Amino acid sequence: MKKRFLLPVALGVLGACNNTASDSKQTAFGTDTTVRDTHTLSNADSVVPKHVSLDLAVDFGTRQLSGTATWQIQNRLGAKEFVTDDAGLQIEQVWADGTPVNFYTSPPVQYLGTALHIPIGSNTQTVRIRYKTGAEASALQWLAPAQTSYKTDSFLYTQSEAIHARSWVPAPDGPGIRFTYDARIRVPKGLLVLMSATNPQAPNDSGIYTFRMEEPVPAYLMALAVGKLEFQKIDDRTGVYAEPGVLSRATWELNEMPKMVQIAEGLYGPYRWGRYDVLILPPGFPIGGMENPRLTFATPTILAGDRSLANLIAHELAHNWSGNLVTSATWNDIWMNEGFTVYFERRITEAMLGKSYVDMLWALGYQDLEKAVVELGPQSRATWLKNDLTGQDPEECLTDVPYEKGSLLLWMLERQAGREKWDAFLKAYFNRHAFGSITTEQFLNELHAQLSDTDSTLEKKIRIREWVYGPGIPDNAPQADSARFTQVNAIRNAFLSSGTIDKAATQAWTTHEWLHFLRNMPRPLTVPQMRYLDGQFGFTKSKNSEIADLWFETAIHAKYITAYPEMEDFLSKVGRQKFLTPLYTALKESDQVALAQRYFETYHNAYHPIAQARLRKLLTGS
Ligand SMILES: [Zn+2]
Repeated sequence: MKKRFLLPVALGVLGACNNTASDSKQTAFGTDTTVRDTHTLSNADSVVPKHVSLDLAVDFGTRQLSGTATWQIQNRLGAKEFVTDDAGLQIEQVWADGTPVNFYTSPPVQYLGTALHIPIGSNTQTVRIRYKTGAEASALQWLAPAQTSYKTDSFLYTQSEAIHARSWVPAPDGPGIRFTYDARIRVPKGLLVLMSATNPQAPNDSGIYTFRMEEPVPAYLMALAVGKLEFQKIDDRTGVYAEPGVLSRATWELNEMPKMVQIAEGLYGPYRWGRYDVLILPPGFPIGGMENPRLTFATPTILAGDRSLANLIAHELAHNWSGNLVTSATWNDIWMNEGFTVYFERRITEAMLGKSYVDMLWALGYQDLEKAVVELGPQSRATWLKNDLTGQDPEECLTDVPYEKGSLLLWMLERQAGREKWDAFLKAYFNRHAFGSITTEQFLNELHAQLSDTDSTLEKKIRIREWVYGPGIPDNAPQADSARFTQVNAIRNAFLSSGTIDKAATQAWTTHEWLHFLRNMPRPLTVPQMRYLDGQFGFTKSKNSEIADLWFETAIHAKYITAYPEMEDFLSKVGRQKFLTPLYTALKESDQVALAQRYFETYHNAYHPIAQARLRKLLTGS
């Protein structure tokens, strides 16, 4: 049985439409005042989860977290029960205001887990749940010492987005449900514990760590990492945590973080989370970065040795405004997190590296979007900005569409309004909705009220409904200036006709010129072409993960087996899905599925459970 979750939305901002004087509640983009989050089974609409105190022990032997979660709740509507999400938790005992109560879990719902039903009275203040995590907890990656850089100690980290928080904390788990938290975590001595909260900077002798997160956050922003970790500060409010062998090069690579924070604040207002630190995880981390508040979790694959991949940090930093401070109300509105963040990230990068550089990122992003639209189907619902993921795994929303189509829309709005006016609008938007959530329609209504003129700019010039509630890429999408890529195209074409390259002409190329060069090669290249390129530029041995990954994909299509040992080494260590998925897909598509299966069987333990599940589905269809 699936419950629908109704979240009341503040109406104040909806009544400001400037061209409909007759009815203050009538708005251009609907008057719906409720948000339905179909990915939570909780009843947070009637019982408000205000704060949770975690008291957990981390057991690397059994690979379990065990202890208690104590909720402070407000029973707004006299509900008879407090219902939280739960994915495979072993619930041992539950108390309401100190009295044991009879709880039950309802049958599982596909993708969502189960609902934990706890009886409460109309004045119940606290609910305490004693539990252990299950064997299949999807948020948790437990690493054996061999899977770390240091090789002497185990490691644990969480990835709670989209709806994995419920596999380690019994919590109402939806992006529109915010609460504060504190925690007491016990670990083996010598290990350091970090959370998306106030953090220690060195291990202590007791192995007991305490945390506070006083700003309300949704469950998907709860995070935990435990390992042999060290800290190095960059300036007074930024720093890096990493395994000892990785720390100094990570700190060097991320040295420009203070400047990024300054630029971000200059654009859209103060950073509101206290410290901004980055944790570099072991290579099995399934994604590029996760914007856990106060402490971005990042893949070590951004450590290219030349700071060329640090724009990922600009993305995670930007999330501290778009996503963490102002959060999309449901997973259907995820473009409000990701499209805004890509746009903001590129504004930071533009300020750091200039317009011609960021134009390359816009162009590559456009290529990603075109590819995603072809893969999803040009007319498919999944290519709308406003998604409908009812009955689906919300992780399905994380395609290039919300990121790239969303950011293109904002870029077009900037061009239409003028940068100064647009920046003022966005800054006020972040301020107005700070520590709250927002729907697509709320945003559109505010846009309409504040940036539209009397000839309906949004409808006529932008055709905003077509962008938000229509498929594909509208033909008025802005295009980046392509001067740098025009030169790359000329060199690629010369290579394809002559078989050689004027190496001097590529001397000043950055990672992004190389990505454009390689990804637009015809497929397959011939083995002699591959051998020539490898001889000239040493791609097989590249230490730049973006270039290496793309090169290996090109090698698979060309069956250039010289690159396979290095590729296998890459697949044995790197767990980032952005890299794994194209490589396993290319193997499958080029009649090398047996090889793909052998790699997967050999190395899947190095991958996060989320990545393992997706790759298994790719390779076996189930
Ligand atoms: Zn993001």
